Amino acid sequence: MNKFESYGLNPKLLKGIQEMGFEKATPIQEKSIPFLLEHKRDLIALAQTGTGKTAAFGIPLLQNAEPHGKTPQYLILCPTRELCVQIATELEKFCKYMPEIHLTAIYGGANIDSQIKSLKRGTHLIVATPGRMQDIIRRKKVDLGGIKTVVLDEADEMLNMGFQEDLNSILSETPKQKNTLLFSATMSKEIANIAMDYMVDPLEITVGKKNVGSKNIRHMYYLAHIKDKYAILKRILDLNADIYGIIFCRTRHETKDTADLLMKDGYDVDALHGDLSHAQRESVMSKFRHKNLQILVATDVAARGLDVTNLTHIIHYNLPEELELYTHRSGRTGRKDATGTSIAIISPRDIGKIKRIEKIIEQQFTEAPIPEASQILESRIASLARRIEGLEVDHKHLSPHMNEFYKKLENLDKDEIIQRFLTIELKPFLDFYKNGHSIKAPDKHSRDESRSGGNRSFGGGKPFRKGGSSGKGGFSQKSKSWKGQGKKSPSSSKKKY
Ligand code: AMP
Repeated sequence: MNKFESYGLNPKLLKGIQEMGFEKATPIQEKSIPFLLEHKRDLIALAQTGTGKTAAFGIPLLQNAEPHGKTPQYLILCPTRELCVQIATELEKFCKYMPEIHLTAIYGGANIDSQIKSLKRGTHLIVATPGRMQDIIRRKKVDLGGIKTVVLDEADEMLNMGFQEDLNSILSETPKQKNTLLFSATMSKEIANIAMDYMVDPLEITVGKKNVGSKNIRHMYYLAHIKDKYAILKRILDLNADIYGIIFCRTRHETKDTADLLMKDGYDVDALHGDLSHAQRESVMSKFRHKNLQILVATDVAARGLDVTNLTHIIHYNLPEELELYTHRSGRTGRKDATGTSIAIISPRDIGKIKRIEKIIEQQFTEAPIPEASQILESRIASLARRIEGLEVDHKHLSPHMNEFYKKLENLDKDEIIQRFLTIELKPFLDFYKNGHSIKAPDKHSRDESRSGGNRSFGGGKPFRKGGSSGKGGFSQKSKSWKGQGKKSPSSSKKKY
C-alpha cells in the first residue's frame, strides 16, 4: 500500500492526515487519490462503507481547494445526517492545519440559521443531505454556480431513500462543466442511470470483495492486428451463430462506430451508450432483454443498467481500462448451470493485461486461432442442422402442397434439393467467404502496433472497412431467424426475412 507522503500533498494537509494516524492508503484511496489529483475526469467507485471512501475523495478535494473566494467549490451529498456529520468531522480533521479552508455541514434536524450563517461567511466545501440542501436552495441562501466537483456518496442509499428528485433538482443548480464522483456499494440500474445522465466518460473502480470469475466461463483471446480487428469480430460472430451477447467497447465513440458498422453489415445489433436519451436506452435494453435483439454493443457504464445475465458470449472489443471490470463484464455469462464464453480481441501489447486478468479471475485464457472461412461455413451448417432437427413442421398446411412441390423439382435428386436449400440459407456466407482467405494474427511478441496507433484506433470505423474480409458485401445475418432456432417463438416470424 502507498504512503500518503508519496502523493505530493500540501504539507499542512499531510500533517492533518498523519495526525489521524493514517499512514498508508487503503485500496480505494490508492486507486482514487492519485487519479483525482491528476485528472479532471468523472469517477464511479464501487466500494462498501468502511473502506476509507471519505479520504478517497476528501483528500484530493482539500488538496485542490482554492482558499480565495467565498462561493463553494465542492459539494458532497450523502444520504443521512449521521454520515454527513461523520464526513464533515473527518474532513475538518484533515484540514486542521489549513485554517484558510472552510467547510459547512448542512443536514436536517439541526438549526438551519447557523448553517445559513456559515454559508454567508464563505465556504469552500459543503457536505449535505439532499433534503436540507434543497430547503436552503429554495430559500436562495446558497450559490452553487462555482461548484467544481460534486461527490455523490452512498449514491445507492440516497436513491433507496427516495432522494432522486432532490438530487436532480440540486444538480441542476450546479454548473454543467464540473466533475462528478459517484460512490456506491452496488451498481444498480438506477445508479447506472444517474451515471448516464450526469456523468461523462467516468472511470470505474471497484474495491472490496475480490470478484473471482465464475468457473463456468471459458476465457479466450484472439490476437489481432489493429487493421483486422473488425474483420475478426465479424468472424467471431459468424462462427457463433447462436450468440446472445454483449460486445463491450471502451468509449461511446467506439461503441457507436462498431455498432454502425455491424448494422451496415447486416447483423442484428444495437448500441447502448451515454449519448442516448433515457427513453432510447430503455427501449434498447428492453429489446435485448426480450431477445428481440441478438447482440448489444455497449460501454461498461451503459451496460450496468441492464439486468441480463444469461448471455452466451461476452466480447471485449477492447479490454476495460480498469482490469477488474473484466469480471463484471464476463460475469454476465456462465450463470447458474450455463456455460459462457468471454472473448477478448487484443493486440500483442495487451498480453500483459491478460496475465493480470488471469490473476484476478484465477483462471487461464486460451489463445484462439482466428476462424478460417471453412470453419465458419462448417459451423453455420451445423447450426442449421440443429435448427432443422428441432423444427416443428406445420404438416397440416404443408402436406397438401408437397406433391405439387415434388413435381416441380422432379429433375433434382434429394442431395441436389438439400444443397440448394443450404445455398439459399447460407448464400451470404458462401458469397462472403468463397475466397476463403485467412487473416494472419500478429506475432505475440511484436509490440510495434502499440506505437502506431494503439487501442485508440481500434474500432475507429474507417481503417478496417477497407481491404481484408471486412469490406462491403457482408451477409445479412438478419435473414436467419436466430430466435427461432429450434424453438417456437411468436416474434421470430417478425424477424425472419
Ligand atoms: P470511511 O469508509 O471513509 O468511513 O472510513 C472508515 C474508517 O477507516 C474511518 O474510521 C477512517 O477514519 C478510517 N480510515 C480511512 N482511511 C484510513 C487509512 N488510510 N488508514 C487508517 N485508517 C483509515
